[in-house]
Order: sequence, then structure tokens, then C-alpha cells
Amino acid sequence: MDFQPDPGLDTFREEVRAFLHEHLPEELRDTGIGRVRSSREHIRRWQRILNARGWGAPYWAREHGGTGWTVQQRLAFDEECATVGAPTQDFLAQKLLGPALNAFASKEQWDEHVARIVTGERLWCQGFSEPGAGSDLASLRTSAQQDGDHYIVNGQKIWTSYAHEADWIFLLVRTDSTVKKQAGISFVLADMNTPGIMVRPILSIDGCHHLNEVFLDNVRVPRSNLVGGEGDGWKITKFLLNNEHAGAAELPVLRRCMTRLKALALSRSVDGRRLIEDRGFALNLARLEAELDAIVMMAQRVAAMEQDHSPAAHALGSMLKVRGTELQQKLTEHLVEALGEDGAVAYPEPHDTANKEPLPREDSGRGIATEMFFRRAATIYGGASEVQRGIIAKTLFQL
Ligand SMILES: Cc1cc2nc3c(=O)[nH]c(=O)nc-3n(C[C@H](O)[C@H](O)[C@H](O)COP(=O)(O)OP(=O)(O)OC[C@H]3O[C@@H](n4cnc5c(N)ncnc54)[C@H](O)[C@@H]3O)c2cc1C
Repeated sequence: MDFQPDPGLDTFREEVRAFLHEHLPEELRDTGIGRVRSSREHIRRWQRILNARGWGAPYWAREHGGTGWTVQQRLAFDEECATVGAPTQDFLAQKLLGPALNAFASKEQWDEHVARIVTGERLWCQGFSEPGAGSDLASLRTSAQQDGDHYIVNGQKIWTSYAHEADWIFLLVRTDSTVKKQAGISFVLADMNTPGIMVRPILSIDGCHHLNEVFLDNVRVPRSNLVGGEGDGWKITKFLLNNEHAGAAELPVLRRCMTRLKALALSRSVDGRRLIEDRGFALNLARLEAELDAIVMMAQRVAAMEQDHSPAAHALGSMLKVRGTELQQKLTEHLVEALGEDGAVAYPEPHDTANKEPLPREDSGRGIATEMFFRRAATIYGGASEVQRGIIAKTLFQL
């Protein structure tokens, strides 16, 4: 592949920058910095602005109402948005559910749900994992039994990100327990306001509320909410999880952390010397930057492969996930270290107005500790590193 800069991509970046300069409201600027996900209100407002520009679905093909951007353009768009701290989007809907609906939904389902994703009117959560069914997802036990025009759903989901803020959930359920595990799974959509759905928060190590348990007790879901046919759940899940390999490393997160680390290296001093003048620190910084450069190139390679529909994109996507998430952890650990003795202070999330106590390094330290703790989970969510290594071995070495 050609690593020469693409002048077309530079022009595209300029267009995105100009749009952000003009249309990202001042009060939303920086709100995405140091945050895993923006507030419901910010996500919806930003989504409306993007949609008005025709960019409501940046990751989808034109025939599905998307921008039709190349993978490279999508990466560039994400990076530019992250640089100015634009609010995050509803990535579960944009990157996982939307493409699956575009491929498998009936016309009625598409009309009902897709436009509402693009306008930001309806936010989603993903109800796949269960206690005892994470990496081994096919072992899931939540059942859906037919009752006339409805399914009666019973079971429990866990680690359901942002279920407490979602309007709807896409669920994997078992509709047949007499066949092979994978063949008995179906994919259904449910309104979170349906009686029988109960959400219980799980506070994670960063002290924030991202995760939940979702209990389903005799929940009546219309059969018209089944996507594809009964037993198609596994096929849809494989499609959905295999999407967007090039995004697996979360490049905007890596770039944002690197920029912040460099800023601290210049602004922090120890014993009268700036951090950057410390040989050990400077060497580590250089190593991390070299790693980041390698990951950026790898992401470009995967993007090119995805464009050509190469099967190798799958294995390389897994490599990118492993390397990218490990670098997220290293960078955030170095950020805490760069704060020195102040690093031990648990800084609140950025923009958290609840904490009125002034903390040391309030400006430069805000959000760093929470992000370092949150990124411990990066090597687990989206497929644990051990499982990714299994995929790489299987694909490349036929093990
Ligand atoms: C922050 C966060 C957000 C999440 N959000 C969601 C969400 O929105 N919706 C959702 O459905 N799920 C979500 N998850 C769940 C996530 O998908 C699972 O945690 C993940 O798939 C691992 O499953 P598990 O936790 O059950 O661990 P297990 O599968 O029990 O794994 C435990 C350990 O065993 C290892 N292991 C398991 N199988 C193998 C194997 N075949 N080979 C080698 N090692 C193996 C794992 O790598 C891990 O170290 C989220 C998780 C986190 C941490």
C-alpha cells in the first residue's frame, strides 16, 4: 500500500475542520475531551447538527442514507472531532446496530428505527453479554418464547453500557434450545420502557456509571421486532462485530492522550527541570510515539484492506485491537505518572460540576485518573485480548 499523504484526504480534513469551526457550538466544544461518552443531551444535540449537514451517519454507505465516506475519511472525521472535543456520538447505534439494520432489517423496521438513529432521537444499548456468556456468547440463556404476536423474554444481561440512558435495546435471545447453541439465537429490538425491564447500575473502577445489569422479567416484545428470521441472531452478531476493523484501536483516543502527555511533559517540572528534560521520561515518550505511529500505519493498512474486502482485514483488525488497547493503557498510565505526586489524587470526570473542592493540577489533571482506570477495561470490551489472539492464530496460522 501507498503511505504517501493523500491530498484528497487533506482537503477533506480541511472541510471537516471548517465545519467544526462554524457549527460546533462554543458550549459543546471540549465537552468530549477526556470522556468515554458524552451526556445524552449533548449526544442528541450534536447528532442533530451533524444530520443537518448531511453527516448524521458518517460510517454508512450512501445507499443507506450515510455519507459514503471511505474508511480513511471516517478515521479523519473521528480524529478531527476528537481534537476539538466535540461530543461523542451514539457509537452503539452508529457503528454496531445501524450497519446490521441496513443489512438485515425489514423495510418497516428500517423506516421505524434508522431515521431515528440518524436524527439522534433514539439512543440504543447492546444487550448481548450475560453472567456466564461473555467471550462464550453462544452460551447465552435469556429466552424468548412465542405467545401469539409476541415473544415473552426472560433472563439477565450484564455489562450493558449506557442502558440507563438508552431508549431501546438490541438483544440476543434464545428462541430454540433444542438445536446447536448458535442456531437457536435470535436478534430482537425492545423498547426500554416495556414493563418487566429493570436496569441496575454497576459502578466501575473509575467511579463512573457506564455499566448496568438489565433484568428481563416476562417482557412482551412484538414479534415484528425480530430482525432477520428466527435463528439468524448468530449470523447478524458476526456481521455486527466484524464491522469497522480499522476503528478497533480507537485512534482518536490514542492521539488525544499523546497530545495531553506532551503538554504535561512541557508544563510539569520536577526538581526545577521540565519533565521533557528528564532522559528517562523523554525516552519513554519517544517509544510511545513510535508505537502510536506504527498503529496509525497499521490502521491505514486495515482501512485499505477493508476497502478491498480482504479477509485478512479480520486478523489485522484483531491485532490492531490488541496493540491499540494496550497502548491506551500505557499512555494513560504515563499520564498519571506525569502528574507526579498529584497523580494519586482521583480527579473527577471533566465537566463534572458536582465537585467544588479545588484539587492540585485541577486543569491539567482533570479526567486523567478516571480515564486511566476506565482504560483497564479496553482489553476486555469489544472482545478480550486473549480471544483476539485466538482469532489471529486461527486466521493466520490455521490453528
Ligand atoms: C467497559 C465494558 C463495557 C461493556 N459493554 C458491553 C455492552 O454494552 N453490551 C454487552 O453485551 N457487553 C458489554 N461488555 C461485556 C464484554 O463484551 C465482555 O466483558 C467480554 O466479552 C468478556 O466476557 P466476560 O466478561 O464474560 O469474561 P469471560 O469471557 O468470562 O473471560 C474471562 C477471562 O477468560 C479469558 N478467556 C475467555 N475465553 C477465552 C478463550 N477462548 N481463549 C483464551 N482466553 C479466554 C478472557 O480473555 C478473560 O481474561 C462490556 C464490558 C466492559 C468491560
